[in-house]
Amino acid sequence: MSLVFDEFGRPYILVKDQNTRSRLKGLDAQKANIKGATAVARILRSSLGPKGMDKMLQSPDGDVTITNDGATILEQMEVTHQIGKLLVELSKSQDMEIGDGTTGVVVMAGSLLEQAETLLDKGIHPSRIAEGYDIASKVACEHLDKIAKDYDWTSQNFENLVQTCMTTLNSKIVGRCKRQMAEICVQAVVAVADLKRKDVNLDLIKVDGKVGGKLEDTTLVHGLVIDKEFSHPQMPKRIDDARIAILTCPFEPPKPKTKHKLDIDTVEKYESLQKAERKYFDDMVQQCLDSGANLVMCQWGFDDEANHLLYHRKLPAVRWVGGVELELLAIATGGRIVPRFQELTPDKLGKASAVKEVAFGTTKDRCLVVEGCGETKSVTIFVRGGNRMMVDETKRSLHDAICVARNLIRDSHIVYGGGAAEIGMAIAVENAADSVHSVEQYAMRGFAEALDAVPIALAENSGLSPIECLTEVKSRQIKEQNPYLGIDCNEVGTNDMREQNVFETLVGKKQQIMLATSVVKMILKVDDVITSGEYE
Ligand code: ADP
Repeated sequence: MSLVFDEFGRPYILVKDQNTRSRLKGLDAQKANIKGATAVARILRSSLGPKGMDKMLQSPDGDVTITNDGATILEQMEVTHQIGKLLVELSKSQDMEIGDGTTGVVVMAGSLLEQAETLLDKGIHPSRIAEGYDIASKVACEHLDKIAKDYDWTSQNFENLVQTCMTTLNSKIVGRCKRQMAEICVQAVVAVADLKRKDVNLDLIKVDGKVGGKLEDTTLVHGLVIDKEFSHPQMPKRIDDARIAILTCPFEPPKPKTKHKLDIDTVEKYESLQKAERKYFDDMVQQCLDSGANLVMCQWGFDDEANHLLYHRKLPAVRWVGGVELELLAIATGGRIVPRFQELTPDKLGKASAVKEVAFGTTKDRCLVVEGCGETKSVTIFVRGGNRMMVDETKRSLHDAICVARNLIRDSHIVYGGGAAEIGMAIAVENAADSVHSVEQYAMRGFAEALDAVPIALAENSGLSPIECLTEVKSRQIKEQNPYLGIDCNEVGTNDMREQNVFETLVGKKQQIMLATSVVKMILKVDDVITSGEYE
């Protein structure tokens, strides 16, 4: 950019961006976009399914994440390609709406785009391809409705919910104790679910973790877990019928904020100072006791003298409780966060039936468990694991399973996994294409082929021969009229997913198809890419 003057001396600004601006038009633009998006989708393809690979991602500050979750991989990859970013958004929206199936949706979108490229090469106009995909996705969803089963559960028997959560956990690091994890997730969801309205508020489920112990030590706590201990080792380890003062003010005498000088030259002066200080502490403790509190949770620390006094006056206390935990505690126990001792009144205290210090495993790690928090039924899943990466990945996997359980409570329909649903949809779309007389039938056939990408990826990742597996299962589905046949990834010996108990939710699968189709349509509609370069 430069400032120049015309012949009359009037200034104007000259912007030199002509050379730096790049532009792609027409077919070139579509092809470049498809390339960018398929490159991203290809990365995720090897992560799909029970035998899918994990990815290791290192952030700029050296943090390492190992994960199998599509949304997390894409989020941490920091994709810069403008179309690649759309796929990142795609898996995020699947994560937000459904919680599971984030890898599958990107794989599906990637293969739809690959098919679109072949169709473009044949000379079919992008809007006709988009149209065909639209019709095909409707046929596919109708087929899903047809093959879906109502997977009923009762408030006494949650086995069906557990089985579906187990399918989600199959492909994760926690696969080895999936039964236990699935049960924990279902119990957590059921504990906070409103079974009459058929809804679950996931905010009431906190997934917390601490490095140490084994994965098997993961537990469900009906209440809140706070990773802190009582401030004095001799304070009682259990408080029943707790009335909790939640404080953000420190147990310290106030300190002048300006510089000051204090001359203490006699014993009397020193003694009076000490007395005044002790009175401060005494008053604070008294104010807490007066309000009726029998436990103090403090955001700040307090020195040894205050600690001793609290112990002496039989007022158990916990110090350095984090801000977020303090807020959760206030919400769960119905208490108020109090910023000054003077403001402490009985109605601001949080109530819980018990607060206890528990030790986990064989280590000296202790945590506080707040149970029976009145009206709100919040629960905490406390994850244990050998290292931080393991704990983090377990938390992510449990999130997926919790979402699946919630989806099933909302809508109890399921479809069968292992590629069975995709193969069934592909057959249905192919059949429907025969009755379409316009150019769109090519796009519909492309859509059907794209659906095959999921079973192909599942077979490939399990070390099976992908094309052979797919053709065999597909021909059997047609011959036996059995839409439950899928890829036997774990080589159990049967392709029937009903026997293998591999289920996915109907809403999740439908959402995958609809989201993938709409993103692909959006990408195909772009025929001009103008990238503005850096200004000089
Ligand atoms: P996403 O993030 O999309 O959920 P996953 O890596 O969890 O991806 O893989 C899910 C896919 O794996 C689904 O298509 C599901 O049907 C399939 N799957 C899970 N468990 C099995 C199994 N035991 N046998 C065959 N397929 C399975």
